[in-house]
Amino acid sequence: MSADPRPPASRACAYCNRQPRVAAFDPFCSKGCADRDLLHWLGESYALQGNSPLDSDEDPV
Ligand SMILES: [Zn+2]
Repeated sequence: MSADPRPPASRACAYCNRQPRVAAFDPFCSKGCADRDLLHWLGESYALQGNSPLDSDEDPV
């Protein structure tokens, strides 16, 4: 097992490219970046079809 020869600076988050990667979310720095990248990869229109927890259909009771 050889360690990655590249310095930490070159291993930035694949999404925001600003913060260092976290092993748990590699190659991203956080779950947020991982989720955003996944949504972006799937297509943002897919997230707009009604599966977003932030955009709830609340009934005016
Ligand atoms: Zn990031």
